[in-house]
Amino acid sequence: TADQAVRPGTGAADLAARAAAVLPGGVSSNVRLATARTFFERGSGPRLWDVDGNEYVDYLLGQGPAFLGHAHPQVNGAVTTAVGRGMVFGAQHALEVEAVEKLLAAVGWADMARLGVSGTEAVHAALRLARAATGRRKMIGFAGQYHGWLDTVLMAHGPDGHRPGSAGQPPQYLADWVVAPFNDAEAVQRCFEEHPGEIAAVIIEPMMCNSGAIAPRPGFLARLRELCTAHGAVLIFDEVVTGFRLAFGGAAQRFGVTPDLALYGKAVAGGWPVAAIAGRRELLELFGTGKVNHSGTFNASVMAAAAVSATMDVLRETPPYVSVEEHGTALMTGLRGIGERHGVPLHVQGLPAAFHVSFRAEGAPPTDVVDHASLQSLDLARYTRFSRTLTTHGIWVAGRGIWYVSAAHGPAELADALERFDRALAAHVAESR
Ligand code: PMP
Repeated sequence: TADQAVRPGTGAADLAARAAAVLPGGVSSNVRLATARTFFERGSGPRLWDVDGNEYVDYLLGQGPAFLGHAHPQVNGAVTTAVGRGMVFGAQHALEVEAVEKLLAAVGWADMARLGVSGTEAVHAALRLARAATGRRKMIGFAGQYHGWLDTVLMAHGPDGHRPGSAGQPPQYLADWVVAPFNDAEAVQRCFEEHPGEIAAVIIEPMMCNSGAIAPRPGFLARLRELCTAHGAVLIFDEVVTGFRLAFGGAAQRFGVTPDLALYGKAVAGGWPVAAIAGRRELLELFGTGKVNHSGTFNASVMAAAAVSATMDVLRETPPYVSVEEHGTALMTGLRGIGERHGVPLHVQGLPAAFHVSFRAEGAPPTDVVDHASLQSLDLARYTRFSRTLTTHGIWVAGRGIWYVSAAHGPAELADALERFDRALAAHVAESR
């Protein structure tokens, strides 16, 4: 199947026409507007099949959740068994205690956690906790990060600062943000100095996967830790992408810096819709005393708890971190080599578990991409076009450049991916002439 390009079929075309009539934009999340014409029928391990029978090696993984591969039998089996006895009780059940105990054992540094449904909500809970704990309002964030789609966090970043990321979003909801460039600890220090006693929290994707898969420079996160401690602010790691992916203990473990609160989602539950907020007892107990409200009908449902518990078991019993690292390293190296052979200025950066592929502008020297501004020096639009060619050659990836590696990717996927990428790049070069 490796040499077979994807053939568009009537299945997807028919569904896309029906979808366009009843789903705004033909999709259920705006992130998918660009891929509104793709309909998958099933996923298994590291591969996907569309409704017209085309097969893809998947490096998007549902935007991250399928870190164990699609339809993991142990996780799905545990959920199926558990939900046979009921799903939501409006009370506690044993599985949620077990799930959170296992999650905390994985995270390592946190004392308590709660399970919710989406990363967006977990962020919201953390910001509320930080403000309640400090009695302050302002937050320091980083240009290019994504913390969900709500009014208080959705931002578009440009050279002249941040602004609402959506029509209908009141700009005053963003008034409490102080935005710094990623990887610039001195800028963060200045933010603290310019707003003495006002900063409730610093919230950061410890590796910036929503803009270019930019790893933190050595010492950057440690400096944020020092600044937060010195100024009495809460350090929040948004580990929705990095959690359980960069290491069992997430970015905190990988980079050796301990936040006060962390948010998890995506990989935490093997593809099931679950998020978590974890952190220090003094902070989380503000929920426990009822001082800070955090609620949700579906929080820690039987499904969610069973999925988290089984995912933690799989990750602990068969840690995928070495194989993910090897696969990603070989893939990144292979893609760079293919780019060189075709004389194309590919730019591949990040860590093997989550990396970013783009093009340098024609004639531009290799760039050190360290933040959102330097990311803009790349030809991101060219990659977005090329990502469609990758898709038609049987590699499922996002247009924004991120590639995620799963526990299920093996040598067969590596070989197929490199071969398909090679042919896709040849087609792209031919098209560009
Ligand atoms: N934080 C980060 C870093 C994310 O990448 C995302 C989603 N891509 C979110 C928060 C929001 O999570 P969700 O889509 O589950 O609401």
